[in-house]
Amino acid sequence: MSAETGDHIIRATAGKGMIRAFAATTRDTVETARKAHNTSPVATAALGRLMTAALMMGVDMKDDRDLITLKISCSGPIGGLLVTADRNGHVKGYVHDPSVMLPPNELGKLDVGGALGLGVLSVVKDIGLKEPYTGETILVSGEIAEDITYYYATSEQIPSSIGLGVLMNRDNTVRRAGGFMIQLMPGASEEIIGQLEETVKGLSSVTSMLDRGMGPEEMLRLILKDFDPVINARTDASFYCGCTRERVEKALISIGRKDIDEMIAEGKDVELACHFCSKKYVFTPEDLVRLREEHMKK
Ligand code: ZN
Repeated sequence: MSAETGDHIIRATAGKGMIRAFAATTRDTVETARKAHNTSPVATAALGRLMTAALMMGVDMKDDRDLITLKISCSGPIGGLLVTADRNGHVKGYVHDPSVMLPPNELGKLDVGGALGLGVLSVVKDIGLKEPYTGETILVSGEIAEDITYYYATSEQIPSSIGLGVLMNRDNTVRRAGGFMIQLMPGASEEIIGQLEETVKGLSSVTSMLDRGMGPEEMLRLILKDFDPVINARTDASFYCGCTRERVEKALISIGRKDIDEMIAEGKDVELACHFCSKKYVFTPEDLVRLREEHMKK
């Protein structure tokens, strides 16, 4: 079944061009993030939902260099999240406190809304302009799908219906992850809107659709069954971080000569971990001396 054919995102149009739609299956991507950051189940769900949204928003960009970043600053125990995706199905991200643990919410589900609490969602689109485009909205529930729906309604005036889900196994590995995003184009009729609302109301959750073996295409064909959906493109998805030792060196140099001098005087190895993927880079005192000689003025 298509849910088993690896992580990917599909795009579709329907309703004579009045509807555009995206859907994704992201189990391996979210599991890779979980392993990299050792996230608790509720942190895995939050990060997985946000990464899935970023992947669907990312494939909508025009240029290979374009990047979309979703940042959540919040008062809840998770402390915040940051996720970045490109248009080719690459996503990376982290949460501030990966160890956050909470009892299930009143529906018996992972309490993502409780982990986030109050806060702000920032959407930053780096699309080759001088200044990146930034839109900010408050969190309406902290459950992420509703928050992104609200962002689209208020910041981009695009009526949307978004579902995101992450389902865990008993051993806390990721069992299923994915989502869908349905958007109405300007001029969509009341009839289309009403019919779509009815269908979405009657849907079971994303995780139960995925767990029944449905892939992104089956999800969209079900949601858009009344609107002749046409699948336009498929993009493979994965967790990918482009960090290199060279970039970490640059960050190290940027902290300034005084701090580097202190590290050298301590005589110990310095270990720096990439925020996005947790890869560790070790610098010996000899490495630091070389960096100082090559890059820093006396
Ligand atoms: Zn990295």
